[in-house]
Amino acid sequence: MTLLATETPELGSAFTLYDLHSHTTASDGYLTPEALVSRAVEMRVGVLAITDHDTTDGLARAAQAIAAQNLPLHLVNGVEISTLWENHEIHIVGLGIDPSHPAMVDLLALQTSLRIERAQEMGRRLEKARIEGAWEGALRLAQNGAVTRAHFARYLVEIGKCDTIAQVFKKYLAKGKTGYVPPHWCTIEQAIAAIHQSGGQAVVAHPGRYDLSTKWLKRLLAYFAEQGGDAMEVAQCQQGPNERTQLAAFARDYNLLASQGSDFHQPCSWIELGRKLWLPAGVEPVWKDWTQTATITE
Ligand code: AMP
Ligand code: MN
Ligand code: MN
Ligand code: MN
Repeated sequence: MTLLATETPELGSAFTLYDLHSHTTASDGYLTPEALVSRAVEMRVGVLAITDHDTTDGLARAAQAIAAQNLPLHLVNGVEISTLWENHEIHIVGLGIDPSHPAMVDLLALQTSLRIERAQEMGRRLEKARIEGAWEGALRLAQNGAVTRAHFARYLVEIGKCDTIAQVFKKYLAKGKTGYVPPHWCTIEQAIAAIHQSGGQAVVAHPGRYDLSTKWLKRLLAYFAEQGGDAMEVAQCQQGPNERTQLAAFARDYNLLASQGSDFHQPCSWIELGRKLWLPAGVEPVWKDWTQTATITE
Protein backbone atom coordinates (compact mmCIF):
# COMPACT_ATOMS: atom_id res chain seq x y z
CA MET A 1 0.00 0.00 0.00
CA THR A 2 1.45 3.38 -0.93
CA LEU A 3 1.27 6.37 1.36
CA LEU A 4 -2.33 7.53 1.29
CA ALA A 5 -1.57 10.97 2.67
CA THR A 6 -0.29 12.01 -0.73
CA GLU A 7 -3.72 11.27 -2.21
CA THR A 8 -5.57 13.59 0.17
CA PRO A 9 -3.51 16.76 0.27
CA GLU A 10 -6.44 19.15 0.25
CA LEU A 11 -8.15 17.78 3.34
CA GLY A 12 -7.80 19.60 6.61
CA SER A 13 -6.85 16.39 8.39
CA ALA A 14 -4.70 15.01 5.62
CA PHE A 15 -3.54 12.00 7.59
CA THR A 16 -6.93 10.57 8.40
CA LEU A 17 -8.44 8.38 5.74
CA TYR A 18 -12.24 8.29 5.78
CA ASP A 19 -14.23 5.45 4.25
CA LEU A 20 -17.89 6.12 4.92
CA HIS A 21 -19.69 3.35 3.02
CA SER A 22 -19.14 -0.38 3.63
CA HIS A 23 -20.99 -3.66 4.11
CA THR A 24 -20.72 -6.72 6.36
CA THR A 25 -22.45 -10.09 6.66
CA ALA A 26 -25.24 -8.21 8.47
CA SER A 27 -26.45 -7.55 4.89
CA ASP A 28 -24.74 -8.49 1.61
CA GLY A 29 -21.09 -8.01 2.57
CA TYR A 30 -18.87 -11.10 2.59
CA LEU A 31 -16.79 -10.17 5.65
CA THR A 32 -17.99 -10.36 9.24
CA PRO A 33 -17.93 -7.08 11.18
CA GLU A 34 -14.77 -8.31 12.94
CA ALA A 35 -12.99 -9.13 9.67
CA LEU A 36 -14.09 -5.84 8.10
CA VAL A 37 -12.63 -3.64 10.84
CA SER A 38 -9.35 -5.59 10.74
CA ARG A 39 -9.13 -5.09 7.00
CA ALA A 40 -9.89 -1.37 7.36
CA VAL A 41 -6.91 -1.03 9.69
CA GLU A 42 -4.69 -2.94 7.23
CA MET A 43 -5.77 -0.50 4.51
CA ARG A 44 -4.83 2.48 6.75
CA VAL A 45 -8.43 3.64 7.08
CA GLY A 46 -8.77 5.81 10.20
CA VAL A 47 -12.53 6.40 10.18
CA LEU A 48 -14.88 3.71 8.91
CA ALA A 49 -18.66 3.83 8.55
CA ILE A 50 -20.45 0.51 8.35
CA THR A 51 -23.59 1.08 6.28
CA ASP A 52 -25.45 -2.19 5.80
CA HIS A 53 -28.66 -2.37 3.80
CA ASP A 54 -31.57 -1.45 6.08
CA THR A 55 -29.92 -2.86 9.19
CA THR A 56 -27.57 -1.76 11.96
CA ASP A 57 -26.96 -5.28 13.24
CA GLY A 58 -23.25 -5.36 12.42
CA LEU A 59 -22.33 -2.23 14.39
CA ALA A 60 -22.11 -3.63 17.91
CA ARG A 61 -19.85 -6.51 16.89
CA ALA A 62 -17.57 -4.12 14.98
CA ALA A 63 -17.34 -1.77 17.97
CA GLN A 64 -16.56 -4.70 20.28
CA ALA A 65 -13.80 -5.95 17.98
CA ILE A 66 -12.23 -2.48 17.82
CA ALA A 67 -12.33 -2.11 21.61
CA ALA A 68 -11.11 -5.64 22.37
CA GLN A 69 -8.03 -5.25 20.17
CA ASN A 70 -7.58 -1.54 20.77
CA LEU A 71 -7.53 -1.01 16.99
CA PRO A 72 -6.52 2.43 15.65
CA LEU A 73 -9.91 2.89 14.00
CA HIS A 74 -12.93 5.07 14.67
CA LEU A 75 -16.29 3.53 13.85
CA VAL A 76 -19.14 5.66 12.55
CA ASN A 77 -22.54 4.09 13.12
CA GLY A 78 -24.17 4.00 9.72
CA VAL A 79 -26.92 2.46 7.61
CA GLU A 80 -27.89 2.42 3.91
CA ILE A 81 -31.64 2.82 3.52
CA SER A 82 -33.42 1.80 0.31
CA THR A 83 -35.98 4.38 -0.76
CA LEU A 84 -38.33 4.87 -3.68
CA TRP A 85 -38.36 8.23 -5.45
CA GLU A 86 -40.17 8.83 -8.74
CA ASN A 87 -40.07 5.08 -9.34
CA HIS A 88 -36.29 4.96 -8.88
CA GLU A 89 -34.60 3.00 -6.08
CA ILE A 90 -32.42 5.58 -4.37
CA HIS A 91 -30.08 4.63 -1.52
CA ILE A 92 -29.74 7.04 1.38
CA VAL A 93 -26.83 6.55 3.77
CA GLY A 94 -27.21 7.64 7.39
CA LEU A 95 -23.99 8.58 9.21
CA GLY A 96 -23.59 9.05 12.95
CA ILE A 97 -26.98 7.62 13.82
CA ASP A 98 -28.01 6.19 17.16
CA PRO A 99 -29.04 2.66 16.13
CA SER A 100 -31.21 2.26 19.23
CA HIS A 101 -33.34 5.35 18.55
CA PRO A 102 -37.00 4.29 18.18
CA ALA A 103 -37.43 6.27 14.94
CA MET A 104 -34.58 4.31 13.33
CA VAL A 105 -35.56 1.00 14.92
CA ASP A 106 -39.15 1.38 13.65
CA LEU A 107 -38.19 2.36 10.10
CA LEU A 108 -35.68 -0.48 9.77
CA ALA A 109 -38.20 -2.99 11.14
CA LEU A 110 -40.61 -1.89 8.42
CA GLN A 111 -37.92 -2.09 5.73
CA THR A 112 -36.95 -5.56 6.95
CA SER A 113 -40.49 -6.84 6.58
CA LEU A 114 -40.68 -5.28 3.09
CA ARG A 115 -37.41 -7.03 2.22
CA ILE A 116 -38.78 -10.39 3.35
CA GLU A 117 -42.08 -9.97 1.47
CA ARG A 118 -40.25 -8.91 -1.68
CA ALA A 119 -37.83 -11.83 -1.40
CA GLN A 120 -40.70 -14.32 -1.03
CA GLU A 121 -42.36 -12.86 -4.11
CA MET A 122 -39.06 -13.04 -5.99
CA GLY A 123 -38.89 -16.71 -5.02
CA ARG A 124 -42.39 -17.30 -6.40
CA ARG A 125 -41.61 -15.52 -9.67
CA LEU A 126 -38.38 -17.43 -10.15
CA GLU A 127 -40.21 -20.67 -9.39
CA LYS A 128 -42.64 -19.91 -12.22
CA ALA A 129 -39.53 -19.59 -14.41
CA ARG A 130 -38.59 -23.11 -13.23
CA ILE A 131 -35.93 -22.00 -10.77
CA GLU A 132 -36.64 -23.91 -7.57
CA GLY A 133 -35.76 -23.03 -4.02
CA ALA A 134 -34.49 -19.48 -4.62
CA TRP A 135 -36.17 -17.93 -1.57
CA GLU A 136 -34.87 -20.67 0.72
CA GLY A 137 -31.45 -20.48 -0.92
CA ALA A 138 -31.21 -16.71 -0.59
CA LEU A 139 -32.35 -16.89 3.02
CA ARG A 140 -29.69 -19.50 3.81
CA LEU A 141 -26.96 -17.41 2.16
CA ALA A 142 -28.13 -14.29 4.03
CA GLN A 143 -27.28 -16.12 7.30
CA ASN A 144 -29.87 -14.22 9.36
CA GLY A 145 -28.75 -10.90 7.86
CA ALA A 146 -30.83 -8.63 5.63
CA VAL A 147 -31.85 -10.61 2.55
CA THR A 148 -30.97 -8.80 -0.68
CA ARG A 149 -30.98 -9.44 -4.41
CA ALA A 150 -27.26 -10.16 -4.05
CA HIS A 151 -28.14 -13.32 -2.08
CA PHE A 152 -30.49 -14.46 -4.84
CA ALA A 153 -27.71 -13.82 -7.33
CA ARG A 154 -25.29 -15.97 -5.32
CA TYR A 155 -27.85 -18.76 -5.13
CA LEU A 156 -28.41 -18.73 -8.89
CA VAL A 157 -24.66 -18.94 -9.43
CA GLU A 158 -24.46 -21.75 -6.84
CA ILE A 159 -27.03 -23.86 -8.71
CA GLY A 160 -25.33 -23.16 -12.03
CA LYS A 161 -27.98 -20.93 -13.64
CA CYS A 162 -25.32 -18.34 -14.45
CA ASP A 163 -21.56 -18.12 -14.22
CA THR A 164 -21.34 -14.75 -12.54
CA ILE A 165 -23.34 -12.49 -10.23
CA ALA A 166 -23.34 -9.77 -12.88
CA GLN A 167 -24.96 -12.19 -15.36
CA VAL A 168 -27.69 -13.08 -12.88
CA PHE A 169 -28.58 -9.42 -12.41
CA LYS A 170 -28.64 -8.84 -16.14
CA LYS A 171 -30.74 -11.88 -16.91
CA TYR A 172 -33.04 -12.25 -13.88
CA LEU A 173 -32.85 -9.52 -11.25
CA ALA A 174 -32.53 -6.14 -12.97
CA LYS A 175 -35.60 -3.94 -13.29
CA GLY A 176 -38.13 -5.56 -15.60
CA LYS A 177 -36.58 -9.06 -15.56
CA THR A 178 -38.30 -12.29 -14.42
CA GLY A 179 -37.17 -12.17 -10.81
CA TYR A 180 -37.54 -8.42 -10.32
CA VAL A 181 -40.27 -7.38 -7.93
CA PRO A 182 -41.07 -3.67 -7.74
CA PRO A 183 -40.26 -2.81 -4.12
CA HIS A 184 -42.31 -0.72 -1.70
CA TRP A 185 -39.42 1.01 0.08
CA CYS A 186 -39.97 4.05 2.25
CA THR A 187 -39.74 7.55 0.80
CA ILE A 188 -36.67 9.78 0.85
CA GLU A 189 -38.45 12.04 3.37
CA GLN A 190 -39.04 9.11 5.72
CA ALA A 191 -35.38 8.06 5.49
CA ILE A 192 -34.14 11.61 6.16
CA ALA A 193 -36.55 11.97 9.08
CA ALA A 194 -35.43 8.74 10.77
CA ILE A 195 -31.76 9.60 10.20
CA HIS A 196 -32.19 13.09 11.65
CA GLN A 197 -34.29 11.95 14.59
CA SER A 198 -31.62 9.41 15.46
CA GLY A 199 -28.95 12.13 15.39
CA GLY A 200 -27.35 11.40 12.01
CA GLN A 201 -26.63 13.04 8.68
CA ALA A 202 -28.42 11.91 5.50
CA VAL A 203 -26.27 11.27 2.42
CA VAL A 204 -27.26 10.36 -1.16
CA ALA A 205 -25.31 7.18 -1.91
CA HIS A 206 -23.44 6.68 -5.21
CA PRO A 207 -25.31 9.33 -7.25
CA GLY A 208 -23.63 8.15 -10.44
CA ARG A 209 -25.09 4.65 -10.28
CA TYR A 210 -28.81 5.20 -10.77
CA ASP A 211 -28.90 5.39 -14.54
CA LEU A 212 -30.36 8.87 -14.26
CA SER A 213 -29.87 11.47 -16.94
CA THR A 214 -28.12 14.65 -15.78
CA LYS A 215 -31.48 16.39 -15.72
CA TRP A 216 -32.98 13.76 -13.41
CA LEU A 217 -29.90 13.54 -11.22
CA LYS A 218 -30.09 17.30 -10.68
CA ARG A 219 -33.76 16.94 -9.90
CA LEU A 220 -32.97 14.27 -7.31
CA LEU A 221 -30.25 16.34 -5.64
CA ALA A 222 -32.41 19.46 -5.60
CA TYR A 223 -35.25 17.48 -4.05
CA PHE A 224 -32.97 15.86 -1.48
CA ALA A 225 -31.50 19.22 -0.47
CA GLU A 226 -34.97 20.77 -0.28
CA GLN A 227 -36.10 17.98 2.05
CA GLY A 228 -33.24 18.80 4.43
CA GLY A 229 -30.76 16.15 3.26
CA ASP A 230 -27.19 16.92 4.32
CA ALA A 231 -24.68 15.44 1.92
CA MET A 232 -23.97 13.40 -1.20
CA GLU A 233 -21.23 10.93 -2.03
CA VAL A 234 -18.69 12.56 -4.31
CA ALA A 235 -15.79 10.12 -4.19
CA GLN A 236 -15.80 6.35 -4.75
CA CYS A 237 -12.94 4.21 -5.96
CA GLN A 238 -14.36 3.32 -9.36
CA GLN A 239 -14.88 6.66 -11.07
CA GLY A 240 -13.38 8.61 -13.88
CA PRO A 241 -11.85 11.93 -12.83
CA ASN A 242 -14.64 13.73 -14.66
CA GLU A 243 -17.36 12.05 -12.65
CA ARG A 244 -15.80 13.12 -9.37
CA THR A 245 -15.34 16.70 -10.53
CA GLN A 246 -18.91 16.78 -11.81
CA LEU A 247 -20.33 15.42 -8.55
CA ALA A 248 -18.25 17.94 -6.57
CA ALA A 249 -19.77 20.72 -8.69
CA PHE A 250 -23.27 19.39 -7.93
CA ALA A 251 -22.48 19.28 -4.21
CA ARG A 252 -21.57 22.96 -4.38
CA ASP A 253 -24.59 23.85 -6.55
CA TYR A 254 -27.06 22.19 -4.19
CA ASN A 255 -25.28 23.21 -1.01
CA LEU A 256 -24.66 19.62 0.06
CA LEU A 257 -21.68 18.41 2.05
CA ALA A 258 -19.44 15.87 0.33
CA SER A 259 -18.90 12.28 1.44
CA GLN A 260 -16.63 9.50 0.25
CA GLY A 261 -16.89 5.73 0.51
CA SER A 262 -15.79 2.55 -1.18
CA ASP A 263 -19.13 0.66 -0.92
CA PHE A 264 -16.90 -2.30 -0.11
CA HIS A 265 -18.70 -5.67 -0.15
CA GLN A 266 -15.88 -8.21 -0.52
CA PRO A 267 -12.18 -8.56 -1.16
CA CYS A 268 -11.74 -8.22 -4.93
CA SER A 269 -9.30 -6.61 -7.29
CA TRP A 270 -11.32 -3.53 -8.24
CA ILE A 271 -12.79 -2.22 -4.97
CA GLU A 272 -10.91 -1.88 -1.71
CA LEU A 273 -11.50 -0.14 1.61
CA GLY A 274 -10.04 3.37 1.53
CA ARG A 275 -8.81 3.14 -2.03
CA LYS A 276 -8.70 6.36 -4.09
CA LEU A 277 -10.88 8.20 -1.60
CA TRP A 278 -10.23 11.94 -1.61
CA LEU A 279 -12.40 14.99 -2.22
CA PRO A 280 -11.77 17.61 -4.89
CA ALA A 281 -11.07 21.14 -3.68
CA GLY A 282 -14.03 23.42 -3.13
CA VAL A 283 -16.42 21.03 -1.36
CA GLU A 284 -17.04 20.78 2.37
CA PRO A 285 -16.56 17.31 3.82
CA VAL A 286 -19.47 15.69 5.61
CA TRP A 287 -17.17 15.23 8.62
CA LYS A 288 -16.31 18.92 9.01
CA ASP A 289 -18.17 19.26 12.33
CA TRP A 290 -17.64 15.77 13.66
CA THR A 291 -16.36 15.42 17.16
CA GLN A 292 -15.14 12.27 18.81
CA THR A 293 -18.07 11.99 21.19
CA ALA A 294 -20.99 13.02 18.97
CA THR A 295 -20.50 10.90 15.89
CA ILE A 296 -17.63 8.55 16.32
CA THR A 297 -17.21 5.59 18.62
CA GLU A 298 -13.95 3.85 19.28
P1 AMP B 1 -31.36 -4.99 -2.99
O1 AMP B 1 -31.08 -3.90 -1.98
O2 AMP B 1 -31.95 -6.20 -2.36
O3 AMP B 1 -32.11 -4.51 -4.17
O4 AMP B 1 -29.94 -5.49 -3.50
C1 AMP B 1 -29.09 -4.58 -4.10
C2 AMP B 1 -27.65 -5.06 -3.95
O5 AMP B 1 -27.35 -5.99 -4.97
C3 AMP B 1 -26.68 -3.92 -4.13
O6 AMP B 1 -26.40 -3.30 -2.91
C4 AMP B 1 -25.46 -4.60 -4.68
O7 AMP B 1 -24.67 -5.09 -3.63
C5 AMP B 1 -26.02 -5.76 -5.44
N1 AMP B 1 -26.12 -5.48 -6.90
C6 AMP B 1 -27.00 -4.72 -7.53
N2 AMP B 1 -26.81 -4.72 -8.86
C7 AMP B 1 -25.74 -5.52 -9.08
C8 AMP B 1 -25.02 -5.95 -10.23
N3 AMP B 1 -25.37 -5.56 -11.46
N4 AMP B 1 -23.98 -6.77 -10.05
C9 AMP B 1 -23.62 -7.17 -8.83
N5 AMP B 1 -24.25 -6.82 -7.71
C10 AMP B 1 -25.30 -6.00 -7.82
MN1 MN C 1 -25.09 -4.31 -1.53
MN1 MN D 1 -26.24 1.16 -2.61
MN1 MN E 1 -23.76 0.09 -0.38
